[in-house]
Amino acid sequence: MAKKAGELTPLMKQYWEIKSLHQDKIVLFRMGDFYELFYDDAIRASALLGLTLTQRNKKAEDQTPMCGFPHHAVAGPINKLLAAGHKVAICDQVEDPALAKGIVKRAITRILTPGMVYDSETLDQTKAHYIAALDNHRISFIDITTGESFYFKSDVLSEKIKLLDVLPVVEIVVQDKEDSWINQYHLTRSYVVSEYKDETLTADERLLAYIRSLANTELMQILRPFVEKEFEHRLHLSQTTLRHLEIFSNYKNETEGSLFGAINRTKTSAGARLLRQWMSFPLRNKTQIEKRYDQVEQFREHMMELKKVREVLAGMGDVERRLGKIAQPQCHGRDLVSLADSVEAGVSALKWCSTFFIKNFPAAVETSIALAERIKARINEDAPLSVRQGHIIKKGFSAELDELIDLSTNAHELIANLEKAEKEKTGIPSLKVRYNNVFGYYIEITNVHKDKAPAHYQRKQTLANAERYCTDELIELEKKVLSAQVKRFEMEFTLFDELRREILSQSADLMSLAQMCSELDVISSFAWLSLEESYCRPTLLNERCLKLESSRHPVVEQFTRGKFVANTIELKEEECLLLTGPNMAGKSTLMRQVALAVIMAQMGCYVSASKAEMAIYDAVYTRIGASDQLSEGLSTFMVEMTETAQMLKSATKNSLLILDEVGRGTATFDGMCLAQAILEFILQNLKNHVFFATHYHELTSLDQSFAQIKNAHMKVLDKTDGQIEFLHVLMAGPAGQSYGVKVAELAGIPKEITVRAEALLSSVERNQPTAMVIHAEAPTEVVNVNLKSSTTKQMSLFDKEEEAKKHSLFEEVKKFSIQKS
Ligand code: ADP
Repeated sequence: MAKKAGELTPLMKQYWEIKSLHQDKIVLFRMGDFYELFYDDAIRASALLGLTLTQRNKKAEDQTPMCGFPHHAVAGPINKLLAAGHKVAICDQVEDPALAKGIVKRAITRILTPGMVYDSETLDQTKAHYIAALDNHRISFIDITTGESFYFKSDVLSEKIKLLDVLPVVEIVVQDKEDSWINQYHLTRSYVVSEYKDETLTADERLLAYIRSLANTELMQILRPFVEKEFEHRLHLSQTTLRHLEIFSNYKNETEGSLFGAINRTKTSAGARLLRQWMSFPLRNKTQIEKRYDQVEQFREHMMELKKVREVLAGMGDVERRLGKIAQPQCHGRDLVSLADSVEAGVSALKWCSTFFIKNFPAAVETSIALAERIKARINEDAPLSVRQGHIIKKGFSAELDELIDLSTNAHELIANLEKAEKEKTGIPSLKVRYNNVFGYYIEITNVHKDKAPAHYQRKQTLANAERYCTDELIELEKKVLSAQVKRFEMEFTLFDELRREILSQSADLMSLAQMCSELDVISSFAWLSLEESYCRPTLLNERCLKLESSRHPVVEQFTRGKFVANTIELKEEECLLLTGPNMAGKSTLMRQVALAVIMAQMGCYVSASKAEMAIYDAVYTRIGASDQLSEGLSTFMVEMTETAQMLKSATKNSLLILDEVGRGTATFDGMCLAQAILEFILQNLKNHVFFATHYHELTSLDQSFAQIKNAHMKVLDKTDGQIEFLHVLMAGPAGQSYGVKVAELAGIPKEITVRAEALLSSVERNQPTAMVIHAEAPTEVVNVNLKSSTTKQMSLFDKEEEAKKHSLFEEVKKFSIQKS
C-alpha cells in the first residue's frame, strides 16, 4: 500500500521511513497537538478505538486513511491498543517546530507492548502482569509494574507450558518467532509473542535484554533479582482444572462467581495478587500449611487487632505498583507522597499485630519508615502533575529554595516597593509600574507629568496619553524575578528527582515491606472470611482419608444464602464415590465443593465445612462439563478424551480425581463402555480418591467387583402431584430412577412432548433390557475391558438373561423407592 517514494510528500516520506522500521507496531505520529495514525494502522485503530476514519490527501487518486486524537489524551487509546494485543510506537517531534528548517524532525521516543505497559493504573490491580521467556532449563517471569522477577527450573517443555498457562502472562519473548515451540504447542490462551534474537542468552538474560531495549534505565532499577520458585512440591492445578473449577473466573470469564471472587477478602491490591498466587500454587508441605492455619487462628483470637489491621490496610495504597510508576517518566510528586502514605499505613498495620504476627521487624521496615519521613518532609501533598513548574517542594525544606520562591512569588511586593520609591523620587503621584509580554516591566507616566521624568528613564513607547519607560534598576529587578522563577523550577525538579532516585535505590527494602504487608493482608483476610462464612480449620492427616462434615460449595453458598444444603462426605483410603442420579440433583456441585475444599485447605485457608479432615494431595485433576474449546476445532468428545488421557497419565495415588459424566460426548453404548473402562483403570492402577458422577446407571453394580466403590446419589423427592423436588442431600447407594423426562418437564418442554417421551420410555423398557455392566472378574470378547485380573470367566454382553434383567432400567423402575431419611 506504500506509494513510490518519489510521489510522497516530505511528511509522508518521513512517516514511511519511521514506519518501515516498526512494521509490527501501531505508530502514533505526532503532528502539532495530535497523534495521527495512517494507512493500516488507522484502519485497525479506528475500529478498536471508535475513532472516525478520515482521508488525508482527499483529492489525490491514492488516498491515505487516517485517524488521530489529541496528544494529551494519549493514555486511553494506548491502553486499549495494548489490551487488544497490539504494540505501539510513539513518534514525537524531537525539535522545536518554530526552529525547524523544513520538516520537523521526528523520532520514536517510546515503544509499548502489552507487557511493557504505559500506565499500570488502568490494569486489573488484583492481577500480576508477566512477560515470560524460556530456555531449555527454565522459564522466567518479570512483572515490570511491580519489579517482581522469578523463574522455575524445568527441562520439560510441557511443564513450562503449563506454568505459562497458569500464570497471568501477557507477553512471551522468544529467540525466534519462526520455528518457535509456540507454533507447535496448543496453548490455552493467546499471547503477544516478541522476538529478541541472541542465541547465547539464557531465559533471564533474554527477558532483561528485551526489557532494557524498550525501557528507561530507572525501570531497570526496580527489577528485583530473579528468585527461584519451586512447583514440584506444590498442589498441581492445570489450566484446565482452574477453568473447570472456576477458580479465577466463571464460565463467562467474569470474576464474580469464581472461587477468587467468593473468597477474596483482601484489602490491598498487592494482597489480592498474592492471594491469586497462593491459589495457583497451593502448598503440599504440612508444616508450611499449618503455619498459615496458626496465623489465621491467631487473628481469629485477636478480633480487635484483626479489625484494626483491616481498617489500616484498606487505606494502604499499592507500594509495588507505585514504585513501578515512580520508575516511569510520567511520575509526579504525588506518587512519592502516596508511596510514603502507603509505607506508613503498612508499618502501622504490621505494628497492630506485632505481638502475634511478625514480632521482629527486619531492617527494611526501619529504612522504609525513614524514607517515608524524608518524602513527607520534602514533597507537597498537592504537588502538581507537572514536575517542571515548581510547587513540588515543601516550604522550609531548603533555605535557598525558599529565597527563590520568595523572589519569584513576591515579585508583586518588590515592584510595589519600587513603584513607591519612584513616586517619591519623582514627585509624580500617578506613576505606575506595569507589565506586559512585549516589554516586560515598565514605568508609565501620563502626559501631564511627562516633563518630570528623570533623565535616566529610557523611553520605550509613546501612547496617546502616556509615555512608557524603563530603568536599569527595573531591568535588574525583572531579571532577578524571572531568573528566580527559572532557578526555582530547576531546583525543585532537582530536589524531586534526587529523592525519586533515592527511592528507586531503596526499592528492595520497600518491596520487602510490601511483601510482608501482602502476606498480612491475605492471612488476615482468611481469618475474616472464616469468621464471616463460618469456615473451619482443617486437620491434615497422614493417611489418605477425607472427611468433610456439613460441607458447602463456597461459591454457590454465597449465591443461595441460607438455602444451601450442607452434606457430609467421607472417603477412606483408595475409595471412590460413584454418584448417580438425575441432572440438576447437585452432583457436580458436590464434587466441585470437595475439590475446592482441598485447594483452599492447601492454600492455608479455612474451608467451608463444620469439620474437615483430609490427606494432603499432590494434584487435583478434573474432567468436567462441556468445553469451550469447540471453537478451536476440537469436538467435545475429543476434548473430553484428551483431558481424561492427560489425567490418567499424570495422576498418582495421592491425586484427587473429579470426573463428571465421562463418555457423555459419544453414543450411549461407547460412552458407557469407555466410562466403565476408565473407572476400572483408575480403581486398579491409581487407587486414589475419585469422585465419579455418571448417568450410566449400570456402572453402580461395579461395587460388586470393587470394594473401593461407594455408591451414592443426591436425593430427589417425588411429590404427590407427579412433580419432583431436588433435595441436594447426599445419600448412600445408587440412584433409583432416571428423571430425565421429569427434568425436561421442569425445564418447560411442552407437555405433549414429555407425555410422548414417557410412553416411548415405557415401551422401550418393556421390550428391551438395557445394557448391563460386565463385571471386573469377567473380561469379554465383546468389550475389551483389559483387566489384569486372571481369575476371570468368559461372558458376553447380553449373555445371561437374569443378570441383564437385574440391571435393566425396567427392573430398576419397578423396585424403585426413594430412600427417606
Ligand atoms: P448435576 O450435576 O447433578 O446436574 P448441579 O450440581 O449442576 O447438578 O446442580 C444443579 C443446581 O442445584 C445448581 O443450580 C446448584 O446451584 C443447585 N445445587 C446443587 N447442590 C446444592 C445444594 N447442596 N444446596 C442448594 N443448591 C444446590
